[in-house]
Amino acid sequence: MPFADVEARAARVRSRLAAAATAAGRKPADVRLIGVTKTHPPEVARAAVAAGVTELGENRVQELLAKLPLVPSARWHLIGYLQRNKVKDVVGHAVLVHTLDRRSLADALSRRAAAAGVVQRVLVQVNVGEDPAKHGCQVDEALDLVAYARDLPHLAIEGLMTIPPLPAAGEDASAAARPHFATLRRLRDEARARFPEVVHLSMGMSADLEAAVAEGATMIRIGTALFGPRESGPWRPEEVGT
Ligand SMILES: *Cc1c(COP(=O)(O)O)cnc(C)c1O
Repeated sequence: MPFADVEARAARVRSRLAAAATAAGRKPADVRLIGVTKTHPPEVARAAVAAGVTELGENRVQELLAKLPLVPSARWHLIGYLQRNKVKDVVGHAVLVHTLDRRSLADALSRRAAAAGVVQRVLVQVNVGEDPAKHGCQVDEALDLVAYARDLPHLAIEGLMTIPPLPAAGEDASAAARPHFATLRRLRDEARARFPEVVHLSMGMSADLEAAVAEGATMIRIGTALFGPRESGPWRPEEVGT
């Protein structure tokens, strides 16, 4: 997608964000825009950075690692499921891992961060819709997982993340998602009462960002509205010499 298109789409997303924030009595600057570049080539990520969208997210580790050196000026977030054997590739590269959802992964992340001499920033992913098709810990496990992970020496637990269930056909996405966003916010408030560093709410995508901002999102993860429809599969660098 040409730069001018990304720039125009970014302006539209920013004005949606600003309108939603203002309607909720919030400051637009308190909601961070993360551009989700999955399946798109690095040129699209560069266009995003040029348009001022400098925080970018990928849901696959391989794709994040492939683009990161090609777009080093971006700050890269991991927003997809993390397997334990990929932890070593992510720690120290992703500014924020949004998808901590189990103790064994917390242990692995902290161990790797210790070896790398860093503190890895993470969010705990909660499956607020109890959707069997989605990752994330259960609602009633979330506070325990936060408490467990924050005791690990090389993790910083900064908030919670969720992906709500897909709306039913014909249902308004924002209206369908809003109660799930409200659940995440209540959980965050409970966690923050015990652990003041748990501040962030990563929630809201192209179709439901208004509801997310109304419920207190501090990070929205936007793909389609910024970059158009996705390609059919992950982006891969061209194989050399084949
Ligand atoms: C793909 C993806 C998004 C972006 O979704 P859009 O509807 O295209 O904005 C957000 N969050 C996660 C975790 C994703 O995988």
